[in-house]
Amino acid sequence: MNGRASGSNIILIGFSGTGKSTVAPALARALGWEHFDTDAEAARLAGKTVENIFKQDGEAAFRALEQTVLRMLPQRRNVVVSTGGGVAQDGENRRLLHAAGIVVLLEAKPETILRRLKADMANGGDVRPLLAGDDSLGKIERLKAERQSNYATADWTVNNDNLSLEEVVQEVIRGWSYWRRMDNRSFQLPPSNLSFRGPQTEESAPEGFTESAAASGKGLEPGSMTVVTTDTQSYPIWTGWDILESLGTRMSGLGLSGAAFVVTDETVSHLYGERVTRFLSQAGFRTNLLALPPGETAKNLGSVTGIYDFLAANRAERTDTIVALGGGVVGDTAGFAAATYNRGMQFVQVPTTLIGMVDSSIGGKVAVDHPGGKNLIGAFHQPRMVLGDVLLLTTLPRREVSAGWAEVVKHGLIADAGYFEYLERHVSELMGLDEQLAIKAISRSVEIKADVVSRDEKETKGLRTMLNYGHSIGHAIEAATGFGKYLHGEAVALGMVGAAMISQRMGLIGLDVVERQKKVLVEFGLPVSCVGVNKALAMKSMRLDKKVARGSLRWVLLCGVGQAAVRNDVPERYVEEVLTGLGMV
Ligand code: NAD
Ligand code: MG
Repeated sequence: MNGRASGSNIILIGFSGTGKSTVAPALARALGWEHFDTDAEAARLAGKTVENIFKQDGEAAFRALEQTVLRMLPQRRNVVVSTGGGVAQDGENRRLLHAAGIVVLLEAKPETILRRLKADMANGGDVRPLLAGDDSLGKIERLKAERQSNYATADWTVNNDNLSLEEVVQEVIRGWSYWRRMDNRSFQLPPSNLSFRGPQTEESAPEGFTESAAASGKGLEPGSMTVVTTDTQSYPIWTGWDILESLGTRMSGLGLSGAAFVVTDETVSHLYGERVTRFLSQAGFRTNLLALPPGETAKNLGSVTGIYDFLAANRAERTDTIVALGGGVVGDTAGFAAATYNRGMQFVQVPTTLIGMVDSSIGGKVAVDHPGGKNLIGAFHQPRMVLGDVLLLTTLPRREVSAGWAEVVKHGLIADAGYFEYLERHVSELMGLDEQLAIKAISRSVEIKADVVSRDEKETKGLRTMLNYGHSIGHAIEAATGFGKYLHGEAVALGMVGAAMISQRMGLIGLDVVERQKKVLVEFGLPVSCVGVNKALAMKSMRLDKKVARGSLRWVLLCGVGQAAVRNDVPERYVEEVLTGLGMV
């Protein structure tokens, strides 16, 4: 599989009647890609129908034409290709298909195939030679058996005898995202968090995000899509520049329809509310908009009740969609309402902050705060899609942008050394929201977060814990300063400095790594010391966290740039020393 541009295209192969020509356009719609049919293209090139090519020029002429069409594929990107039933019989064809993308085999039982072909013909579809004469089932069985070993070279198979079209589409997307992850292999997390530890070697260094890959145009391109695939569902995350206008059509592409209830905050509503409702109406949605007051103080049950009232007054149904337009506060609050109203509504995230794009909109954690604690009342409720338009960040206050980069730097530190280097090299372009570079960086962060939550949706396998790098001390600093002094990302930056210092004391990394991390945080405009913050209050908050975690605080530490480990044997003395080192008194 090496060397292929595995994520670029999806090619559907399979016997006739396995659904290729039905699934391909639906899949293309769901992904926002183009659909390309090799038979239709051959017919276009020949200027006559496939049936006539066979009749007038013979099968060999058709196969030659088919191969010409296949040779065009590797140059294309973001295309769903449907193929003729015989395409996989030729070795060179198979090579061309695999070079062009992920090859997915659609499978169905001969009985199902027969039923579908008959129904298709009855509905005015093509005349099928397989159905001529008697023993059609036997003919299908024999021809299919003959081709089976070649079909078996596919990367992924979807048996669709009993699946709805939507389910087939979901299953193909799941296969595609799996292979894309496997082929990129850019992100390696240890299988078990507690036992993992080890020096970074040349071999284990993550490979994905190198400058050369970036320069060659491979890997991530401006305007990319990532898929979250959990046990129960998968959904796309689009990241791009000036893509807000596509919101409504992408939602319809996923099968959403009816009413769209936009929940936003007053600041964002003022900036983007009108455009968003217009784009949704243009795609056929009935729209209503509710704006909450901006800021963390709105993230409470009172706001949720306000959203319930808004939904009830407008007779929202379960099949209608809540569109969260805003930062993490809006996403978390509207998401909790979506998880609970009518026992769960459709939910779409349109993050407008950097934190929203790389963190809070991905993974389905939705919650509101309670006087007893932050995010205390919540649920897991995955969105149907996420649309991150990076252009929207140009109106975000600089300090909020900086705070967002803290979580991005975190992703590089825990998961991808090449990516971290990329961030180090491009701080000024990234702070300036350079279109190409910012999209590339944000897309990679999205991919890392999506990968983690795909593998550990509900934080039961420990992988999701890795995302808490910098958060133990970060939370303590937020608590010790009454959640008013630092933005969350800033507190996380401080927490990462502390966690790196602990990692160094534990012998996991050298001082050089501590300094490297500090340098990049400073360049992103983030604090690396918190002089004067009350140490006793911070320690108290961490002890409380520890009690909640039943006795042992799980520290996410670095064992190198791009590699993290969870440890529960950090001496309290180290923690105190490090807080002092950060400037606390
Ligand atoms: P936020 O939602 O409060 O937004 C920050 C500020 O920026 C707000 O005042 C908002 O009105 C304004 N704003 C938003 N978009 C703008 C734009 N494009 N232009 C101008 N102004 C804009 O804060 P946030 O940092 O996005 O999110 C923080 C929240 O996210 C916290 O409550 C945190 O708990 C939560 N969070 C959740 C998760 C999760 O997995 N669910 C992950 C991380 C953070
Ligand atoms: Mg965070």
